[in-house]
Amino acid sequence: MALVANQRLWGLISCQHETPYHVPYMVRTACEFIGQTLTLELVAREEQRSLGLKLQTQQLYRQVIDALNEDDEYLQILRRMQSTLLEMGQATGVAVYAEETWHTLGSVPSEKQLRALLEWLPEHLNNQGIFVSHTFPQCYPLAQDFSHLASGLLAVSITQTRPQYLLWFRPEVPQTVHWAGDPGFSAPIAPDSTDRLTPRASFSAWQEEVKQQANPWEPWVVDAMLGIRNHVVSLLLRQADELAAFNLELQRSNAQLDAFTYIASHDLREPLRGIHNYATFLLEDYHAILEPEGIDRLQTLVRLSTRMEALINGLLRFSRIGRQEVHWETVDWSDLFRSVLDLLQLDVQGPDYELRIAPDLAPAHGDRSLLVEVFMNLISNGLKYNQSPHKVIEVGNAVIPESRPDLQNKNLSCFYVRDNGIGIRERHRETVFRIFKRLHGLDKYGGGTGVGLTIAQKIIEQHRGDLWLESTYGKGSTFYVCLPQRSGCE
Ligand code: ADP
Repeated sequence: MALVANQRLWGLISCQHETPYHVPYMVRTACEFIGQTLTLELVAREEQRSLGLKLQTQQLYRQVIDALNEDDEYLQILRRMQSTLLEMGQATGVAVYAEETWHTLGSVPSEKQLRALLEWLPEHLNNQGIFVSHTFPQCYPLAQDFSHLASGLLAVSITQTRPQYLLWFRPEVPQTVHWAGDPGFSAPIAPDSTDRLTPRASFSAWQEEVKQQANPWEPWVVDAMLGIRNHVVSLLLRQADELAAFNLELQRSNAQLDAFTYIASHDLREPLRGIHNYATFLLEDYHAILEPEGIDRLQTLVRLSTRMEALINGLLRFSRIGRQEVHWETVDWSDLFRSVLDLLQLDVQGPDYELRIAPDLAPAHGDRSLLVEVFMNLISNGLKYNQSPHKVIEVGNAVIPESRPDLQNKNLSCFYVRDNGIGIRERHRETVFRIFKRLHGLDKYGGGTGVGLTIAQKIIEQHRGDLWLESTYGKGSTFYVCLPQRSGCE
């Protein structure tokens, strides 16, 4: 009698007799009825049990979703709610992987085993970004070492751009299955070669040990996990939308600020020039009748207006950089440094200085004239803020330091400009890049406007690279410049 539940063969009742026996019709009908009643009862019990578990899963699922709705920090929520997640998956171990860190609860494989699993996983996710197995060691042989913890694995990838996963583990549930005869035994063909199947000779009970197998993942558990993942994805999309709107607003206000800087500095130049010219005229034309104190004051006026013009020009240059497009080309290093030296009116070697420019600078892309400005500034600063009897400026290829993981894997070529100058104190490492920031008195080290490094940094940012410095006060400074290896338009 076949026990068919939900169109699936659930089981079979078979009866044997020692001698051929014709089962009367009435008995067969009664057996069939018993079989059907048994199946109905089985289905009802199974459904009742599932319903309870389903309801429990749904309640826990709601708790997680509610928590996710309350806060934008979804990773923190998932970490905080690990025990709920554990219960929800009726699992014995749960792991959240994000930002290269594991957060685990319950019985899970070791961190080393988890790391190896992480390498295997991406290629085994289905198109919904999920991997489900209750016989995991069969698809992933390394799991045989920890099958007692994780014979069942349910893994969900949270985002595609960054590796973030939710993993649930179910332990091995060794089972002894009793069969009415060896299920692997194939029915013998009759000896008279008539292709007729003959009944088994033996129906003695046969036991099978089933190992490395966990309780199968219920479909509602899988659905709940997918639900959590989809909810996180929708949160991320919403955040991305908000960020895009915010960025647009920022771009708009930046453009307004740029326009303001440009107009203000442009329009300020004219009256300033007037003040400067009139002060100069007064000095020239009324020199004879002015008191020494009056001459002194007019001279101060000329000096201050000259300085103010330099500052305004710096501001104007700074705002122009923001409006200027990058003309991408492969950097021709020797041509670039020829221009730098021409503009600075320097040779590679002088009586008290030396420029060492590596001949094998790595390939990079960028805007020639903008990069000339950057290296001009760095080299002239290296000579200017330098009291060594023999000033040495070196330019070479740099390896991206470990302290800058944000720059790794970004296809950047990095260079350094090193000097043996006066150095910069640690507390000024960032501030020297602020506009008009100078660390010394106006007349010291040949003066300056404090705009050069700000412009250099802005240029490099426009190239989507980076410019920063390391320095030992009193010994010298090293400026690092990272530029894209490929054109920014590609
Ligand atoms: P400026 O040279 O016109 O003052 P910069 O923006 O180029 O403006 O530099 C800002 C400040 O940073 C300088 O005034 C100086 O104090 C410091 N500085 C820049 N480069 C170096 C360097 N190579 N060594 C020591 N100090 C430096």
